[in-house]
Amino acid sequence: MEFRADLHCHTTASDGSFTPQELIHHAIEVGLQALSITDHDTVDAYKQAIPLAKEVGLELMPGIELSSSHRGVPVHILGYNFILDHPVLQALLKKHGHRRTDRNTKILEKLASLGFPIKEEELCHGETTLQNIGRPHFALVLKEKGIVDSIQKAFKLYLGEGKPAYEPGELISIEETLNAIHEAQGLAVIAHPHLILKQSIFRQLLDMNFDGIECYYSRFDKAHNDKFLKIAKSKNWLVTGGSDFHGTIKPGVNLGCSWVSYELFNLLKKEHL
Ligand code: AMP
Ligand code: ZN
Ligand code: FE
Ligand code: FE
Repeated sequence: MEFRADLHCHTTASDGSFTPQELIHHAIEVGLQALSITDHDTVDAYKQAIPLAKEVGLELMPGIELSSSHRGVPVHILGYNFILDHPVLQALLKKHGHRRTDRNTKILEKLASLGFPIKEEELCHGETTLQNIGRPHFALVLKEKGIVDSIQKAFKLYLGEGKPAYEPGELISIEETLNAIHEAQGLAVIAHPHLILKQSIFRQLLDMNFDGIECYYSRFDKAHNDKFLKIAKSKNWLVTGGSDFHGTIKPGVNLGCSWVSYELFNLLKKEHL
C-alpha cells in the first residue's frame, strides 16, 4: 500500500470531535501509515496517542498548531518533530492556556451582551476547560441552541474576525512562537498559507525563520499546490501537508484527504535538529 502521512489534524484536546484514541483508530481505518496530531496550542493528546499508536503500528510525529499574530493578522504555525516536554515550549503552552481562558471569558461576555447567554458548563464537557476551548466550540453551542443553523453561520455572524463576538485575546508574536519551536528542536511550518490574504504580510512571512510551508491541504487545488511548492523550492523549505481534520466540527474534511509521501515525511524526520 502507498505510504501516506497526514500531518495536520485535531482531537478533543483542542477543537476536534474525535478523542486521541478515536483519531488513531480512524487513521488506521483510512489507511494512513503515519500521523501528526496538530492540536491548537496544546500537546495534551500525545499522552494517550503515543502508547496506542505504538500498539496499532501507526507512526506518530510530534506536532502542534500554534496561534500567533503578525501586525494584527492571525497566523497559524505548525510545529513538528520537537521535544514534547521541552520547558521553553511548555512555558509557551502555559501562556496559551491563560490566553484562551481570558479570551474565552471575554467571548462569553460579548455573546451574553448580544442576548445569547451561554454557561461555562454548556461549553466545557468532560475534562475540557476554558483553556482548551476554541471558537468552533462556541459555534457548536450557538447551533445547538438554534441561534444559527450552521457552524459556518456562527463564524459569519458572530465569531469571525471583526464580528461582534470576536475577541483575539493576548497577541503572541511569530518570533516568540518560532523561538519556542526551535528551542524544542522542532521545525516550524506556515500552516494553510492561502488564508493569509494580505500579500504584504505574506511576503514578510517569507523572510522569517520558517523551515517549511504547508503545500498540500484539504481545500487546495492544483494551482495552490504549485504556488506553494514553488515557494518551498525557492526558499529551500520543507514541504508538508495534511487534511486539517476536525471530525464533525468541520464537515466535509476527511482524515487523510491530504497527505505527504514517504520521502517528504522522512525529510521532516531527518531535518530534526
Ligand atoms: P480559535 O483557535 O479558537 O481562534 O479557533 C480557530 C479555529 O476555528 C480554526 O482552526 C478553524 O478550525 C475554525 N474556524 C475559523 N474560521 C472559521 C470559519 N469561518 N468557519 C468555520 N470554522 C472556522
Ligand atoms: Zn481548529
Ligand atoms: Fe489553522
Ligand atoms: Fe488546524
